[in-house]
Amino acid sequence: MAQAKRYLRKRQNLLAMVTKIKLWPSRRGILHGVKSILPLNSGFELTTHCGLVFRVRDSANSRASRWLRAKQYARPCPACRVPDWKIEKYGATVFSKSLGRTLSTSRPAAPGSGEAGPGEPDDSSRG
Ligand SMILES: [Zn+2]
Repeated sequence: MAQAKRYLRKRQNLLAMVTKIKLWPSRRGILHGVKSILPLNSGFELTTHCGLVFRVRDSANSRASRWLRAKQYARPCPACRVPDWKIEKYGATVFSKSLGRTLSTSRPAAPGSGEAGPGEPDDSSRG
């Protein structure tokens, strides 16, 4: 069965992408499954299913951001046991400049409110 294509915006912060995809490409090309994510002041700390902890600066242009978008990895981590469907879904994800939702980590949409507000800049958490 083919996975439906999923579109994600290209330019968005790494935290939002990792929160959505729940996968992490390590420097050595191992694709880990993400167990938990802890936001920090200057980025975030993520824990993989195999117990590794990565501290990451949240940047749309970091190595991990580029690798995530390019789907650049050598193999999935055997210890994380990333399920096939997740790899497939990731493989079917298209990172597009113009299509797809922009992910927001700061404000989840209110359930049942029906209407999203006008496009506010997402900088309100600064300062
Ligand atoms: Zn792992």
